[in-house]
Amino acid sequence: MRTAHRTCPLCEAVCGLTLTLDDGDNVIGVRGDADDPFSKGFVCPKGASLGRLDQDGDRLSTPLIREGGEWREASWQEAFEAVERGLSAVPAPSRAIYLGNPNAHTMAGALYAAPLIRALGTRQVYSASTADQMPKQVSAGLMFGHSLTIPVPDLDRTDYLLMLGANPLESNGSLCTAPDFPGRLKALRRRGGRLVVVDPRRTRTAALADEHVFIRPGTDAYLLMGVVHTLLTEKLTDVRVPVGGLAELEEAVSGFTPEACADACGVPAELITRLARELAAAPTAAVYGRIGTCTVEFGTLAQWLVDVVNVLTGNLDRPGGAMFPRPATEGPRRRRPYATGRWHSRVRGLPEANGELPVATLADEIETPGEGRIRALITVAGNPVLSAPNGARLDRALAGLDFMVSVDPYLNETTRHADVILPPPRVTQAGHYDFALLGFAVRDYVRYSPPVVPLPEGRPSEGEILARLTMIASGQGASADPALLDELALDQTLRRAVETPGSPVEGQDPAGLRALLTGSNGAELRLDAMLRLGPYGDWGGRALGEGNGLSLTTLLENPHGIDLGPLRPRIPEGVLTTASGAVELAPEAILADVPRLREGLGRRASGFVLIGRRHLRSNNSWMHNVAPLVGGSNRCTLQIHPQDVEELGLAGHAVIRSAAGELVVQLEPTDTIMRGVVSLPHGWGHAGTSQLVAAKNAGVSANILTDESIVDPLSGNAVLNGVPVTLVPA
Ligand code: SF4
Repeated sequence: MRTAHRTCPLCEAVCGLTLTLDDGDNVIGVRGDADDPFSKGFVCPKGASLGRLDQDGDRLSTPLIREGGEWREASWQEAFEAVERGLSAVPAPSRAIYLGNPNAHTMAGALYAAPLIRALGTRQVYSASTADQMPKQVSAGLMFGHSLTIPVPDLDRTDYLLMLGANPLESNGSLCTAPDFPGRLKALRRRGGRLVVVDPRRTRTAALADEHVFIRPGTDAYLLMGVVHTLLTEKLTDVRVPVGGLAELEEAVSGFTPEACADACGVPAELITRLARELAAAPTAAVYGRIGTCTVEFGTLAQWLVDVVNVLTGNLDRPGGAMFPRPATEGPRRRRPYATGRWHSRVRGLPEANGELPVATLADEIETPGEGRIRALITVAGNPVLSAPNGARLDRALAGLDFMVSVDPYLNETTRHADVILPPPRVTQAGHYDFALLGFAVRDYVRYSPPVVPLPEGRPSEGEILARLTMIASGQGASADPALLDELALDQTLRRAVETPGSPVEGQDPAGLRALLTGSNGAELRLDAMLRLGPYGDWGGRALGEGNGLSLTTLLENPHGIDLGPLRPRIPEGVLTTASGAVELAPEAILADVPRLREGLGRRASGFVLIGRRHLRSNNSWMHNVAPLVGGSNRCTLQIHPQDVEELGLAGHAVIRSAAGELVVQLEPTDTIMRGVVSLPHGWGHAGTSQLVAAKNAGVSANILTDESIVDPLSGNAVLNGVPVTLVPA
């Protein structure tokens, strides 16, 4: 037996784990890493089941090729040659790629997806982002200059936290990396702070709060508009950062009185006013809105207003407020105007955001004839048949592609349409660094986990799989050496660094710097370069003081991770990259969407609406094949208020219908949900899969009901919450 340390890759909390392995390299025990300075030994049921996921017998271990409707195992070379034949038959504009959410949790996704997209030469780029957080990225881009300049609540120091549409006691947080999020919320209350949760359900997080406010799904923008209106009209503002557009903001919110907003969101006007006054009066405060406020028709407006409140109350970029993390691999960001809509989707004319088109229009682009129609698709760690709106239509569309290749460990609802499946290795066989998630951490922190279990001879890592796909897509063939891609990326990184004025290595020789890098593979070498060039790096980073810089070696010497300290104000050092250099409170694109919100003012919504929900032992569709994580309270049921059950004459099961489809669902009456709202978790509806546990606990897919024809117009994000539905007895 031996122990090994690694970061948990299963959610955004990045907890340190200590694994016990037997002499056959099987994980036989998982506990929280007590020496990790950030997670301090915390582990949740998902992390504790990492071994079961890692050794799941239903994971694919060799490539599969589908011929004549039958799957057969293939060698890696044979599989890559099949990909070369399939992709080369399709012109670049008709190729597409879909990146699933796990790409945010892997080094392969962070380092190799972008070159693959460039090599494909297509604008048909889709990801789970447009079924999740794209509104936050668009609002951050428009307000702060970059889609990843996202402030996070300073959880450990704030005196007041207003949380909307988030349930971290189940999800462990999102766009806010905080191991033991529940413990941090309890600590907030213990030190005399106040936690207010706004949610259509009395979630476990709401139950922990000082106050829970029920809100009509999808209407958080109205509540926040009422708060902003109160702050401005009662002169409760205390702006401490450079801003532009204050006058335009005041004009835009006129008429959004708490009284006018109350009907639209179902929150009483006095309560909206009180929340504004409390936020203004608190010594420090932060507003945090997450998926329930993103995946709605006013998603970007809601995210904009979250940060408008943080600015107006003087809480942006100050301890205890909403702050910008400083991740160890952050590169220079240039000051330039941020814009969406640099191109539009072919069929519906939806705007691009951050180089992506909305996943809500993927089926349109596959089905609709004409130049540029998608004929070949690459999916990487994604299951959009279960996670995208109107998954049933997408399921049919995928069946009509000329060619599809999936990088995925499972034969599932999406990958069953592939011609070739390329399975990545086990979790423990991959090195781990959270390039994306450490950029949202509530403390600056860094940790690298090398592979715990060696890769078998001839087995490519996930990064090598993506690199070989990149070589194929760029015309270099199935036999090209993937290491060339890493060398190219290193050369570009180093050249850019030496040519950047003010860079710590300005004017130096890239070849000399390359010779100094260490790492046992291309991904580690690239990580080493980014760490050394970063704000704490040993090539001149100033954040830790001289002679104290980070490199891959430093991280390998500190397997439990390194605490880089509490978040510090970053606006004075130039974190804002808007053209003006200030926080833009009233970006033109946002103001142009306000009239749409105004139309609903004073309108009282009626009828039933559907929302999703999270569960501690689930994460999207990833973990339904791990027996200890399914069953019990983690079930695919429709939560509904008991009085609604009675009024509708329902019992046991019901038929639920939307504009997109209908399902028969098992009812779970509970008074924790507000009347007129029903909740169904997503990621279920397992069918056509080799995942035996998941198949036994199939559930139904909530995305049979979600409507792909409606999106948040600014970000193209799917509307997965607040979906109008009707219910009748089954
Ligand atoms: S909270 Fe997230 S990162 Fe931590 S152990 Fe659980 S799944 Fe892993």
